[in-house]
Amino acid sequence: MNHSSIDTASLNYHHTLTANGGVSVDLLADLEKKSRLLEPSQDELDKLFTKTEHYARQHLAQVHDTPAYVKSGDRSIGLLSSPITETGISIDDTLNLLHDYVDHEGLNSGSPRYLGYIPSGGIVHSAFGDFLAAIGGRYAGVFHSSPGAVRMENMLVRWMAEVVGYPRGAGGYLASGGSIANLSAVITAREAHGLRGSDYDRAVIYMTAHTHHCVDKALRIAGMGSSILRRVPEDGRCRMSPEALEKSIAADKASGLDPWLIVGSAGTTNTGTVDPLADLATIARSNNLWFHVDGAYGAFFALCPEGQEVLTGINQSDSLVLDPHKTLFLPFGTGALLMRDQEFLGPAHGGRGAYMVDMDSDANELSPAYVSPELTKHFRGLRMWLPLKVLGVAPFRAALSEKIYLARYAYERLKAMDGIQVGPYPDLSIVTYRYVPPQGDPNEFNRSLVKSLHEDGRVFMTSTQIGSTVVLRMAVGSFRTHRQDIDQSLDILNHTIGHVQK
Ligand SMILES: *Cc1c(COP(=O)(O)O)cnc(C)c1O
Repeated sequence: MNHSSIDTASLNYHHTLTANGGVSVDLLADLEKKSRLLEPSQDELDKLFTKTEHYARQHLAQVHDTPAYVKSGDRSIGLLSSPITETGISIDDTLNLLHDYVDHEGLNSGSPRYLGYIPSGGIVHSAFGDFLAAIGGRYAGVFHSSPGAVRMENMLVRWMAEVVGYPRGAGGYLASGGSIANLSAVITAREAHGLRGSDYDRAVIYMTAHTHHCVDKALRIAGMGSSILRRVPEDGRCRMSPEALEKSIAADKASGLDPWLIVGSAGTTNTGTVDPLADLATIARSNNLWFHVDGAYGAFFALCPEGQEVLTGINQSDSLVLDPHKTLFLPFGTGALLMRDQEFLGPAHGGRGAYMVDMDSDANELSPAYVSPELTKHFRGLRMWLPLKVLGVAPFRAALSEKIYLARYAYERLKAMDGIQVGPYPDLSIVTYRYVPPQGDPNEFNRSLVKSLHEDGRVFMTSTQIGSTVVLRMAVGSFRTHRQDIDQSLDILNHTIGHVQK
């Protein structure tokens, strides 16, 4: 290294550098004293534990009763009045900032009456796993650097592969979420099909109007924005029509295009419907297309018998995305990509630096760094492994069955309500419905209805459009949601309809 290239003039301590490059002992003592603040004393550590524990307990004690949504009055702007400064403030004052400016307004995804978008989890056991992952500092990217952390991740991947019925030889990794995992899947499928830049204009992808927008986004990020996207017509119940798909592929082949990828949904975000996966798999196989399934919302329903039935054929996909931070009830930040044949991951994600040779090992375990976009990564396995070990799988299975039955229960109750028109019978745990007022434009009414619900905030539901019809969605997915919460939410809905009508 060329020491003369260091710009000493920019350092306050340049005067202490001696002519021969030595450093004064006093300087080091001073810097050590200051930098040792990074390692708290026993007293300070006790205080950090006690104060954060108290904060967390307070939060958990209230989470059932706080509103599902607090419309933003832009309170969080207050954060900016406490800028990042040279010296710190107390942990009490810091937690007060968190309480006042972050943990109040916006969505409270931990509420049992959070029924919007796709509810996320937040089981507390995961938080302890995260805590220990951060304390332990194990590096989960390469086997050699933490055999235990990597084995744990791979073990979880194999467990998920078993849950969905993938064969031996399947592999994958834990991602930060479904969007990244879908991107990774698109790139893997692209490499497997041998597509190069000059082929993209002719490459055709098949999905429906309900496919999650992150797949479009993935194609663009992958540089494939010029490829051809076919929105395959539906069967009248928001599922991809196999007949229409076959026709579309045949027509594209006949006109010299390169049909390449079918994206099926194992539970669309919009309506919760599941595409006919077995049929799509057959069509993909006979036409030599890659069959990817986005199961970010729905794939974990394979843990319960009611879900398994709906998800038939999911194990015939080439790749599959799951989101443990949705239907395995983990906190935000955990997705997963599974490959039916793990060998496809390497060519799409390979590459290593010269500085990594010491890390190679011949253990029969994939290193996530070689099969995924990340190098240094969060030790995600621990937040998933710890709850599964402590609780076992049974409560997860029960909770997923419960969500399916709660959605059916809500569907029946909605159907019996005056003026309510329900959408398709729920495949999984999302119910769509709308209120048809005696007079006036139904779309306008339902837009006002959802706005009023948001203003009230006790329950959170969202709206969407199916074709040109505005509908409301009730997505049952929080582990905290039980029958009383559905009853209460429907009562609030009923009341709000009356209110909007006035
Ligand atoms: C949520 C979701 C995604 C995106 O996953 P993120 O974890 O939010 O990045 C993709 N597909 C479906 C079906 C989803 O529900």
